[in-house]
Amino acid sequence: MDKGMCLWEENVRKVTPYTPGEQPAGKRNIKLNTNENPYPPAPGVEQALKNIDADLLRRYPDPNGEPLRSAIAGLCGVSKEKIFLGVGSDEVLALAFLTFFNGEKPILFPDITYSFYDVWAELYGIPYERIPLDPDFRIRKEDYCKPCGGIVLANPNAPTGVELAQEELEEIIEAHKDVVVIVDEAYVDFGARSVQPLLDKYDQLLIVRTFSKSRSLAGMRLGYAIGNEKLIKYLSDIKFSFNSYTINRATILAGVEACRDQEYFEKTVDRIIRERERTGERLQNLGFEFFKSKTNFLFVTHPSLPITELFDYLRERGIFVRHFQKPERIVPYLRITIGTEEEMDELIKAIETFAGEHRA
Ligand code: PMP
Repeated sequence: MDKGMCLWEENVRKVTPYTPGEQPAGKRNIKLNTNENPYPPAPGVEQALKNIDADLLRRYPDPNGEPLRSAIAGLCGVSKEKIFLGVGSDEVLALAFLTFFNGEKPILFPDITYSFYDVWAELYGIPYERIPLDPDFRIRKEDYCKPCGGIVLANPNAPTGVELAQEELEEIIEAHKDVVVIVDEAYVDFGARSVQPLLDKYDQLLIVRTFSKSRSLAGMRLGYAIGNEKLIKYLSDIKFSFNSYTINRATILAGVEACRDQEYFEKTVDRIIRERERTGERLQNLGFEFFKSKTNFLFVTHPSLPITELFDYLRERGIFVRHFQKPERIVPYLRITIGTEEEMDELIKAIETFAGEHRA
């Protein structure tokens, strides 16, 4: 036993947790570090929250999140039996790992991807293998065509922003009919192609999405999975062995309104995509390098500017971006969430000043 350890500590399940992006206090900061949406949720969301009947909070919410589950099913054009709701897509993913990855062979995911995947695998004791992305941060489909316990792919991938072509993704899914393949589509609304059309063809395909990014509801915590009824039933059995009432009444009301206002959704997503392209051009002009992003962030590096110093420089000026310490290959990169036009102007101005000081 380690010195200084309490007697009871030996039986503690010890884990290395996921490190979420910093949430600095105050509204004055320019927060480009956790891929939140810079625009508020659809106006109907605010109204719904204002009109909440507090008396109803005495009662538990619907255990399946109705009527939100039906609203999401309508949005996706599937029956509600194909939809599973969770407290953010993090909860959906955590429950999906627990439900579907119960074999002895390792599950596969890229070495550079959402850094929660290995945390869940460690937590549950699921064997896993990280498959290196190629030097252009691309997933090589050949690397995944081998026996395994399951596959998890974020598409577009995070934090790279790079999309894997649907044909290649389908080859991976086709090669693994004996295990569940999870496609994490957290960022799919920002210009990528969803694998949803493949759902009828593959009963082992589970798609996970979130309301945190394109629908501006990160603070509400709402995510969902789409899959065939059997997958959803297994997932629900695990959820109901864990916590019956995961989606609270306020989230149900807000979520329904966010689904209803498609026009607002399209308008804000378009605005973010346009700003991503504009910011990309300006960063390119400053010598930054990055691969084409299909998300609401850019993953950038620079051949001569010191990235860690730039990160600190921006932070001191209240501009928060994300810098990952592992794996080592991505240490020279910054992940920059696309904010409003004004926020990106401020960012570019600060980077120009930093670059000027470094050249001088
Ligand atoms: N998947 C990916 C790839 C993400 O980047 C995130 C956001 N951190 C999530 C899932 C989880 O998002 P949320 O729990 O807010 O739905």
